[in-house]
Amino acid sequence: MTRIVLATHNQGKVAELHRILGDLDVAGLDEFPGAPDVAETELTFAGNAFLKARAIAAFTGLPAVADDSGLCVDALNGMPGVLSARWSGRFGAATGDRDAANLQLLLDQISDVADDLRGGAFVCAAVLATPDGVERSVEGRMHGMVIREPRGTGGFGYDPIFVPDGETRTTAEMSAAEKDAISHRGKAFRELAALVPDALAAGRS
Ligand code: IMP
Repeated sequence: MTRIVLATHNQGKVAELHRILGDLDVAGLDEFPGAPDVAETELTFAGNAFLKARAIAAFTGLPAVADDSGLCVDALNGMPGVLSARWSGRFGAATGDRDAANLQLLLDQISDVADDLRGGAFVCAAVLATPDGVERSVEGRMHGMVIREPRGTGGFGYDPIFVPDGETRTTAEMSAAEKDAISHRGKAFRELAALVPDALAAGRS
């Protein structure tokens, strides 16, 4: 069975990818002590995901999968985008609850924006990089609206203020399985999973 490393310490993501990739053996970074902690310095989701996947493939000698994601808000010309996790900067980090600070800052920034102009999308780039240089990249999106007050206790990050198209609930009010079925990350991982067998065969030939 082929081993693949997912470039994250997040066990939830490892479990999610394991479910989607089915018959592949997916390992998390916890199994590779000393693996580099790669800074996300690129300006695109795919660029950041490739930084991580290439570094982990080189370190482990195994095919590596990485993702990068964020919320792109129309009224902010696509921001916070790749800065989603760090949107409230040092101030947010100092509060001890960065997710809450990021979410509140975003709500304040678009408080004057009319309801029908509050569209946006969660975006996820998922990439594969093998030690012998085979690379694949896909992108998944979940379109929706940013509401005015947080609702729901599930999920993480900006979930309490995001209602996907065709839904009345925020993604924080859905079960994990319901969100996986429509989410940017679910779509990207499923699309990448379909490309993995051919990509690994290309690396071996
Ligand atoms: P990363 O891809 O794990 O680096 O996540 C980047 C950031 O984007 C997170 O810290 C969240 O702020 C935001 N984000 C990405 N995906 C989601 C999601 O599914 N729900 C809520 N926030 C998300």
